Amino acid sequence: MITKAPRGTQDLYGDQVKTWRKVEQVIRKLTEDFGFEEIRTPMFEHTELFQRGVGETTDIVQKEMYSFKDKGDRDITLKPEGTAGVARAFLENKLFAGAQPTKLYYITPAFRYERPQAGRFRQFHQFGVELFGSEEPAADAEVIAIAKALLDRVGINKVELHINSLGGPECRKKYNETLKSFIKDNLENLCPTCQERFEKNPLRTLDCKNEGCQEILKGAPAVLDVLDEECKAHFKKLQSILDSMGIAYIVDPNIVRGLDYYTRTVFEFISNDIGSQGTVCGGGRYDKLIEECGGKPMPAVGFGVGMERLVMVMKAEQGEETYKAHRDIYIGSLGDNAGIKSQGIIYHLRQAGISAEGDIIGRSVKAQMKYANKIGAEFSVILGDDEIEQNKATIKNMETGDLHEVTIDNFVEDFKKAR
Ligand code: ATP
Ligand code: MG
Repeated sequence: MITKAPRGTQDLYGDQVKTWRKVEQVIRKLTEDFGFEEIRTPMFEHTELFQRGVGETTDIVQKEMYSFKDKGDRDITLKPEGTAGVARAFLENKLFAGAQPTKLYYITPAFRYERPQAGRFRQFHQFGVELFGSEEPAADAEVIAIAKALLDRVGINKVELHINSLGGPECRKKYNETLKSFIKDNLENLCPTCQERFEKNPLRTLDCKNEGCQEILKGAPAVLDVLDEECKAHFKKLQSILDSMGIAYIVDPNIVRGLDYYTRTVFEFISNDIGSQGTVCGGGRYDKLIEECGGKPMPAVGFGVGMERLVMVMKAEQGEETYKAHRDIYIGSLGDNAGIKSQGIIYHLRQAGISAEGDIIGRSVKAQMKYANKIGAEFSVILGDDEIEQNKATIKNMETGDLHEVTIDNFVEDFKKAR
């Protein structure tokens, strides 16, 4: 049916879109303060980029991608997340050749074929940052700090930061063996997906939402226990920097993150106020991603914030925000001549940065004034043949009732003075 949008998508309008714009404004200022520059990458990429850059064993690649063949028989996928495209752009545009670190951010729609539910859509939006070129825990801390600062600036207080370390490839190998021997005897009791993960990427069984699997994996050994000295020190230093920033965190061995490319630090900001899809922000370090995409080794750390979930948490903590309509002035008119003249004045006012409105649907003067009230006009004026002839009109402050005389010819300047 043409009056129904595709499942898992939504329209944003009215007060809702105003809240989104407020969040976006906060993000623009925030990224400026933290020194991150915007990058805009295409909405679709070669499917192979996501297969390599997100990982073959992830839910995203295995079952959630919007993939299709274009008319030139190319395999194309709508971006399911922001990082892979940015990594591709980083390589293609040789951003690695400049002074490091490279600090980038984006706000983008993302597409995943998932079962829609509260906080889960098929088209959703992510604010993400990617910091390339530093292996230091200070980079991880900076990335975590910008996410925390965003929550603060939009007035969210009750979201918890969970951090964990998955170690480097060596630790991961060791841990996978440890985990495999722990799971072995219970293998047939795991869900089919986890049985598959057992071979390819056992770590990811810890991320399974299936209750049976969660029960079995409850007593699993923690990855933190098998970290080598270097990874341990990296994780410790990250904690010290977070302490120095005054950012509270919980060390949580169950945070393993869905994507294959994470190394060392992983983190999530989790809300208890919006139901089971409580992860507002997920991120971590992915030192192997750039190599995976065909570049020279380049450490990187980043995150993605789900904008829909962020707005849901804001509403849960602060209630619905209602915005009042506002215009600086309403120019009412009576008769054809005055109507034409008023359109000219309105255009000049708007060009001078004054929000002005007038009648464009032929209302009576009485109805025009009612409408002026409805749109929150601060001042109003009515132009008729007399006003045009005498080059004079009286504007009224709608709240105080104060009157000011202005000339028609010099309306913009006179209005500015009268305000
Ligand atoms: P989840 O465990 O909820 O499926 P994920 O691990 O798949 O999340 P990421 O790929 O890390 O999520 O994406 C980063 C953020 O984007 C998530 O923390 C979440 O806030 C948001 N997000 C992910 N998928 C969706 C979706 N289908 N609808 C709305 N927001 C989403
Ligand atoms: Mg997911």
